[in-house]
Amino acid sequence: MATILLEVATPDKGEVYKNDINMLICRSVCGELGILPKHARLMTELLPHAMRIKENGGGEVQLFVSGGFMEVTPEKITILADSAENPDDIDVERAKAAYQRANERLAKKNPEIDIDRAEAALARAKARLIVKGVPIP
Ligand code: ATP
Repeated sequence: MATILLEVATPDKGEVYKNDINMLICRSVCGELGILPKHARLMTELLPHAMRIKENGGGEVQLFVSGGFMEVTPEKITILADSAENPDDIDVERAKAAYQRANERLAKKNPEIDIDRAEAALARAKARLIVKGVPIP
């Protein structure tokens, strides 16, 4: 089966994921994208979400990205994410706490709260919990 190289890196951790894959499903500012080998060149911004990766000769894995930039060429997908984590590296209790904190901030409807910041934190926490398969309350 045809493959495309996927590389995901963050400024903090360097390389987080590198593999030949069959398909990537990710969420960009333009909507959900499915990237297959030989995809047209593309540059876009990603939103916080659980990316789905169909690995060559294997199953599907998920990878958390908090947002960042993705460049696609017919042979390679390069993602520079603000933060990114493989499922084994996600601390569920920390993500649950972040989820609760953001929800409480948003529920207070306090005019001093930075709504965009709280919504972004909530989106990151939700995506981490999705990658871990934790039901979201
Ligand atoms: P928190 O409020 O818990 O810090 P956050 O969404 O604000 O969460 P980020 O700014 O996305 O955190 O990430 C900061 C650093 O902490 C990154 O290196 C990221 O990989 C790591 N990180 C954040 N949350 C988790 C988590 N639940 N499990 C593992 N690593 C995490």
